Amino acid sequence: KEIDIANPARTQAIMNAYGLRVKKSLGQNFLTDQNVLHNIVATADIGPEDNVIEIGPGIGALTEYLARAAHQVLAFEIDDRLLPILDETLADYDNVEIINQDILKVELPAMIAEHLDADRPLKLVANLPYYITTPILMSVLAGRVTFDNIVVMMQKEVADRLAAEPGTKAYGALTIAVQYRMAAELAMIVPRTVFVPSPNVDSAIVKLTALPERTHVPFDEAEFFKVVKAGFAHRRKNLWNNMQSLFAKQPEVKTAIQTALDAAGIDPKIRAERLTVDEFITLTDALHAADL
Ligand code: SAM
Repeated sequence: KEIDIANPARTQAIMNAYGLRVKKSLGQNFLTDQNVLHNIVATADIGPEDNVIEIGPGIGALTEYLARAAHQVLAFEIDDRLLPILDETLADYDNVEIINQDILKVELPAMIAEHLDADRPLKLVANLPYYITTPILMSVLAGRVTFDNIVVMMQKEVADRLAAEPGTKAYGALTIAVQYRMAAELAMIVPRTVFVPSPNVDSAIVKLTALPERTHVPFDEAEFFKVVKAGFAHRRKNLWNNMQSLFAKQPEVKTAIQTALDAAGIDPKIRAERLTVDEFITLTDALHAADL
């Protein structure tokens, strides 16, 4: 039996055999470390009942580990040069399907219905292409598919933002967009040396788990995300200033903002990075109640 794809020598041999030169523009950094792969599969708690969606299989290093552990794997790869390679490297696994599409353009619910057996736990696992980490996360979070958990590798600095606590530098609009729906936890730091080629940054594996249904919800989610975005628009300014930039600076608007902050019990002089998700929800509703 062949050795794992995730091995520096085999990865290089596969690339040589196909004359594959990685495209940096597509974030192609292939994992070559079996420990990291074990860790990803264990963190996602993949078992024989599970279906898994993978984003960006590359030459199949992670896909192979997922295929061994899961019921079925459905993977989306944008680079058609990788398809013949994946055909060969994953030939032993009959529970993997590769779709040659841009994950940001995929109709995920239709794809899942078409390609995966129904009524099974569904997980999302990926070593993400780093140039589109945030758009992918945003589209997954806003999408109609519910995952039992999401385990994704990304650059460490972005991972820190997802798992950040209020009051820290890493805490921002992205943190709140994620933590509004999911609990985020940093599972493992991954050094740049385990990829071929090595990226310029270290990475981290993040586990996102669905939160129980929120009992405290804003009157309007779009409005909530607008307030969050505006709150962090100028990081060094306080909430009072950022809210004035969002609305307007006429005296009656200022009074309404003041009223809303008072009603929400929030000190206008603090910065957005101090506010929890719940406080942002309270603030959104209070601004609405003050006719803003
Ligand atoms: N999973 C492989 C591994 O761990 O070795 C490769 C991971 S590599 C960091 C990211 C992969 O995502 C590349 O194979 C790249 O071609 C693919 N990719 C980049 N942009 C994509 C997109 N918009 N949709 C789907 N796949 C994409």
